[in-house]
Amino acid sequence: MNGTIEKVVIVGGGTAGWLAACSLAAARPGLDVTLIEAPDIPTIGVGEGTWPTLRATLAAIGLDEAGFLTACDASFKQGSRFDGWVDGGADDRYFHPFTSPPDAPVGELLAAWREDAPDLSFAAAMTPQVALCDRHLAPRQRAMPAYQGAANYAYHLDAGKLAALLTRHATQRLGVRHLADHVVDVLGDGEGGIAAVRTREHGDIAAGLFVDCTGHAALLIGRHLGVEWIDRGNVLFNDRALAAQVPVAPGSPIASQTIATAHAAGWIWDIGLPGRRGIGCVYASRFLDDEAAEAVLRSHIAAVLPDAPDVAVRKLSFPTGHRARFWQGNCVAVGLSAGFIEPLESSAIVLIELSLRALAENFPASRAAMAIHAERFNTLFRYRWDRVVEFLKLHYALSRRDEPYWRAQRDPAHVPQRLTDLLALWRDQPPSAWDFPQIDEIFSAASHQYILYGMGFPLPEGLAVSDRARAAIAASRQRARSLTAGLPANRDYLDALHAETGARAAAMEGY
Ligand SMILES: Cc1cc2nc3c(=O)[nH]c(=O)nc-3n(C[C@H](O)[C@H](O)[C@H](O)COP(=O)(O)OP(=O)(O)OC[C@H]3O[C@@H](n4cnc5c(N)ncnc54)[C@H](O)[C@@H]3O)c2cc1C
Repeated sequence: MNGTIEKVVIVGGGTAGWLAACSLAAARPGLDVTLIEAPDIPTIGVGEGTWPTLRATLAAIGLDEAGFLTACDASFKQGSRFDGWVDGGADDRYFHPFTSPPDAPVGELLAAWREDAPDLSFAAAMTPQVALCDRHLAPRQRAMPAYQGAANYAYHLDAGKLAALLTRHATQRLGVRHLADHVVDVLGDGEGGIAAVRTREHGDIAAGLFVDCTGHAALLIGRHLGVEWIDRGNVLFNDRALAAQVPVAPGSPIASQTIATAHAAGWIWDIGLPGRRGIGCVYASRFLDDEAAEAVLRSHIAAVLPDAPDVAVRKLSFPTGHRARFWQGNCVAVGLSAGFIEPLESSAIVLIELSLRALAENFPASRAAMAIHAERFNTLFRYRWDRVVEFLKLHYALSRRDEPYWRAQRDPAHVPQRLTDLLALWRDQPPSAWDFPQIDEIFSAASHQYILYGMGFPLPEGLAVSDRARAAIAASRQRARSLTAGLPANRDYLDALHAETGARAAAMEGY
């Protein structure tokens, strides 16, 4: 079984499956890519917040940005705002923007912030992006080259429409074969891998490499190969969500960030798209029952959108954890089959993208070297899942809220040892690249700085201000003034784009 890998079978047609199909087909021309998707097993249908990596992913698979924005009813995301997480007070809010602090030693920046900009939050002193978000502004002008902005950005999108767009793109432009069928069995290859998947209507389908994108079912990596699931619910307690889609009035402002509002036993997401807001309540079932969670969600919707109609609410349960290995034999798990750590900070789709980039750039030429690829992949992604767990926990561990859920969250027994150690270190020195040495960290030292100093973590003693840091903060303030004067509102940008695309489509129909 040392033949070359010429064919890949992807099982599952959610965000993970179709991103896998597009990424592999675009990166490896000539590779035979087949995607099998059960027509009557729905995708999870959520996953509206993304990470700036998605811009490079979409560009790499050959999608046009304006076409993507209109097809997916997408909007711009420039970070996340956290309301009520520190103590639940009226002014309690901090920001995690996508743009890093200025290029100066962070200790000097902290000292300059304290001395020169005490009127601003840490994030607002470090980047003009907070000013853009406060005013619902887009991160780019229409005339700028695609996928480039005046500030770093990702997207909010309609997950169902993204899967539909990727399906069209994969099958019509990238040569991916699409089978609407059920995988009913998995046939082993006698070497700890997979020889073929058995389908209900298309017989056995063999391949050199299989990508398990079957969501929570984890049909290949879990059920067939039996790779262990590592539960992280002891650190991150949330295991349920109630999701609603609330229509918005035409012309209403579209927020530039995900808003995460804490409640007594979890938090509520609020994601603005041109036609609706996706609002959902995330909670821990051992602290809040479903009925009470629905009441929390409905009262939040009534508070933020008083004229909203009564909307349906969808309940989702999810395990918090990940596989012990993500690549086993000739099978790679991508998406929910690999793991899921609650929706805070939108870490799932970015992990899908990074998995696919690692796979495409280290594609196994033959079965012979596969074990080496698998080992490297597993080490790297175990590192990444561990860092995601710790970064998400940071928001809970630093909270001073007093409900039983929040007290339990900061109980040392539920905080990973590495995070406990880092928090002790960060009393003496700010987070730096020494703490996060990988090139492609999902949550860099800057992300940790935004959470720590946004949540009021004490600054280290003995910080010295420098002229360079002072100038950087003054320049950031100046840039905030010029950008807020020059960038369009999200609503204006997206309405004009939709109007133009609609007019173009109507003109084409006339031919
Ligand atoms: C409440 C909640 C909120 C979330 N919010 C975000 C967010 O804001 N940002 C983010 O990045 N992520 C978010 N996520 C995670 C995100 O939704 C997923 O990571 C993403 O959608 C990928 O899902 P998937 O493709 O792995 O699985 P799914 O969407 O579940 O797709 C599974 C696919 O497998 C197919 N399948 C299953 N069994 C078979 C079979 N026997 N034969 C053939 N096909 C089969 C199904 O038909 C389906 O096509 C959220 C998740 C939850 C639970």
